[in-house]
Amino acid sequence: MRDDVEITEVLAEVADIARPQASDGRVADYIPALASADPGRFGLALTEMDGTEHTIGDVDEPFPIQSISKVFSLVLAMQKVDRAEGVAEELWSRVGREPSGDPFNSLVQLEKERGIPRNPMINAGALVIDDILITHCEDAKRSTLDLLETLAGEPLEIDQEVYDSEQGALHRNLAMANLLKDFGNLHHAVDAVLDNYVHACAVSMTTRQLARAMRFLANGGVEPATGEPILSPELAKRVAAIMLTCGTYDAAGEFAFNVGLPCKSGVAGGIVGIVPRRLGLCVWSPPLDPSGNSLAGRVALHELAERLDLSIV
Ligand code: GLN
Repeated sequence: MRDDVEITEVLAEVADIARPQASDGRVADYIPALASADPGRFGLALTEMDGTEHTIGDVDEPFPIQSISKVFSLVLAMQKVDRAEGVAEELWSRVGREPSGDPFNSLVQLEKERGIPRNPMINAGALVIDDILITHCEDAKRSTLDLLETLAGEPLEIDQEVYDSEQGALHRNLAMANLLKDFGNLHHAVDAVLDNYVHACAVSMTTRQLARAMRFLANGGVEPATGEPILSPELAKRVAAIMLTCGTYDAAGEFAFNVGLPCKSGVAGGIVGIVPRRLGLCVWSPPLDPSGNSLAGRVALHELAERLDLSIV
């Protein structure tokens, strides 16, 4: 990495360019509690493997991680793959590994492809992953929070208002879960799977905590702060590959083209990413582009990748 002063300057330049872009985006409001997010908030954090942090903006303000949770749910499922026979076959026969090219909450593909979601980074895929977690974890909700607390190195909480609000606005995800159930691709009760899903989406984390929590994926699956193996290097690489190709929904091609890093976004405006062997990172700005990715976040990642030469491609 460049020296600290230089990185601080780069972060300031990136924030100056990215922040004003937020006015062209729209804060998600289909989950009512998200609509009250302050569109002016902006945070950007990079964490190196040795724990050195580079930050700018509102990096200590918590926000609901939403779809960023899909990375961690997949990691939990991959842990089961690592530890028990047959889980890999179960997993990859029930969810694919191809970009969807459709919005994250689309039902169309699911009907056409007979209940096998394209990948674990869209809602339908995450619901199947949650179903698998219920089978293989004693308490799937607790396991998700435990994993995130281990990676963030701090206790975390659920945003109860967001949880309640999403429970009251579940129509589309409910339809999706019922469709999956009809195709035989949910083994547990629809309500139980959705509860797990909404719970993971409502975990509240800061930009700083998320940048830290991503590092193990840049570090061959080993949590750098403690040396604890979270995933084997082979499986960590696979999670990163799925982020690169599917993590930003129908804009994944654009992200690969303009940023060139494994990333995952959420509708509360967070985007996490990794630079293999170097960084965990997170940017947060609530207003979204039409694909549901943070608009200023997208610009920030592009500017950052260009200036620090971070792209892996
Ligand atoms: N909880 C959100 C939903 O299910 C997550 C979507 C997202 O962050 N893209 O619609």
